[in-house]
Amino acid sequence: MNVADSQRVASALEGLGYTPEARAENADVIVMNTCVVRQSAEDKAYGRLNSLIPVKRARPEVVINLMGCLVGVKGHETLKKRFPQVDVFSPPSDPGPLLAYLTQDESKAHEDAETSRRFAMMDGNLTLPVYEQGNLVSAHVPVVLGCSHACTYCIIPYKRGIERSRPVGDIVAEVRSLAAQGVKEITLLGQIVDRYGKDIPDGPNLAALLRLVHEVEGLERIRFLTSHPNWMTPELLDTVAELPKVMPHMEVPVQAGHDEVLENMRRGYTADDYRRLIQQIRVRIPGASIATDIIVGFPGETEAQFQATYDLLAELQMDVAHLARYSTRTGTVADRKMVDDVSDEEKWRRYRLLEELQEGLATEIHGRLLGETVEVLFEEKVKGRWRGRTPTNKLVFVESDNDLRGQVLPVQITWTGPWSMQARLTRQLSINPIFSSADIAQLP
Ligand code: SAH
Repeated sequence: MNVADSQRVASALEGLGYTPEARAENADVIVMNTCVVRQSAEDKAYGRLNSLIPVKRARPEVVINLMGCLVGVKGHETLKKRFPQVDVFSPPSDPGPLLAYLTQDESKAHEDAETSRRFAMMDGNLTLPVYEQGNLVSAHVPVVLGCSHACTYCIIPYKRGIERSRPVGDIVAEVRSLAAQGVKEITLLGQIVDRYGKDIPDGPNLAALLRLVHEVEGLERIRFLTSHPNWMTPELLDTVAELPKVMPHMEVPVQAGHDEVLENMRRGYTADDYRRLIQQIRVRIPGASIATDIIVGFPGETEAQFQATYDLLAELQMDVAHLARYSTRTGTVADRKMVDDVSDEEKWRRYRLLEELQEGLATEIHGRLLGETVEVLFEEKVKGRWRGRTPTNKLVFVESDNDLRGQVLPVQITWTGPWSMQARLTRQLSINPIFSSADIAQLP
């Protein structure tokens, strides 16, 4: 979601005539987008913010914009005092405050237009890849903003506000414009993307939205994330199976494998409900890959309860498991009503056990693809190799001197590991001829 938000700001700045700059120290406008889903992310954001103090001191005219979940939707008075180097504060997904700040002084904007102005995008980790118009193969399109599901561990609803589905017309227009710029793949985003439209009376649901987006010319692939198990309807799964551009890959977090933990998390389903859903996905979308999220060390999680999560992951054989150690977020229900009683050391131990399990599972799942031919959408060249993804979202690297950017090509898998694969280009798959050349010679 943050990558999408950053892209949104970057393209708005490009619209004002700014050009991307990789090094924050050299930019006229520095946008720092932040995540606070776990303490580690929040700490990184503070570290990066502090690194901007000397930049602001050396060049007071530089504009520093702090954006995202550190700011949130409820005002920023304390942040303003704590980080005086920041000029503008923006809530998640909203380029508005920065644009207003940059355009408030018309004469200055005019004067600046004479010189070239540069902007840099940063997040808690590193400088984000710059958004280069016309160069983007895969783009993210937020369709549901905010979240209203009160998972007890989660800070997102407090920071991104209540759930709001974007109007279908806006989404389709945005996808059309991206496709016209050469974007081949879009990922529709929402904290609970499968709730799309539920807050709009008589609005389309996600299945209907997928159908509309599927019509957009030039687009090759459509994905969506993240889904909550309770809203993945048979209709949605069948739509994914039916529409050729919608990729067979589901991101559907389980979070824990024991019913009591799931209840304490207020997820709204049992482990058996989740099992049935996974089976449904596999029946209705043959060959689908499935990714899940798991939190270890939730308040009160016993060894036996953790074991239930371990066993569920082993049983369901997921393609990907995004793992996290529970991190208390101030103000959440878990923070107010539960005790963070699993030690850090124990959280790490459980995390490593799952990591090891998943590494084995993924190695096995990917191993089955060795020698197979799959279609890859190529995105960019990294350290001499082209990087792309299969329909099932597996990372593939291919050596080629040709420009493969934005192309969907068949490749043969030559090496597989737990996190990525290598492949070689095969000849273009030949299409079954309707007539043979002999037939054609005999045509009247
Ligand atoms: N809205 C999505 C994703 C939320 S954030 C969903 O409902 O699944 C991405 C992941 O971060 C979550 O799936 C969860 O596994 C993890 N996460 C969220 N809050 C956390 C916390 N307080 N501590 C540790 N991990 C957390």
